[in-house]
Amino acid sequence: MLPAMKSALKKLFLLALETDSQAESGDAIWLTKCLHCRAKLFFKQDGEPLGNGSLEHVVPKSWFEQSGARELCTGLTSPDDPRNLALACRRCNNQKGYGPDLAGPHDDRAYEVVQMLQRKRLDRWREPPPDSLDPDAECDT
Ligand SMILES: [Zn+2]
Repeated sequence: MLPAMKSALKKLFLLALETDSQAESGDAIWLTKCLHCRAKLFFKQDGEPLGNGSLEHVVPKSWFEQSGARELCTGLTSPDDPRNLALACRRCNNQKGYGPDLAGPHDDRAYEVVQMLQRKRLDRWREPPPDSLDPDAECDT
């Protein structure tokens, strides 16, 4: 048996779904589309992915400490800021992880990819229900 998904992670999935204007909830599941390829993704009501849904950090966590990514991080309180969270299929998420994310913000192509994805993510932004934002989120940039 697989261990139950950590509730902290489920909370991030849920935050990404609640703030994604393309995510619809009904029949006890969420349906949305991969930020990259628009493949359909399904999640349980509590945020746990069904199938190959995964959590995408648009600006990779590893970029937050880097000066080259400062502009991309403007307005984000942390890598887990809901504006930086998106839903993606595992395949696309891995391709980004081993491609642009690894290349880093000083690589022009990698920077462009992340910038473009950030625009796509913000185009899909919607305000979350008032109780779902974590008031303890820290900004250390
Ligand atoms: Zn995809």
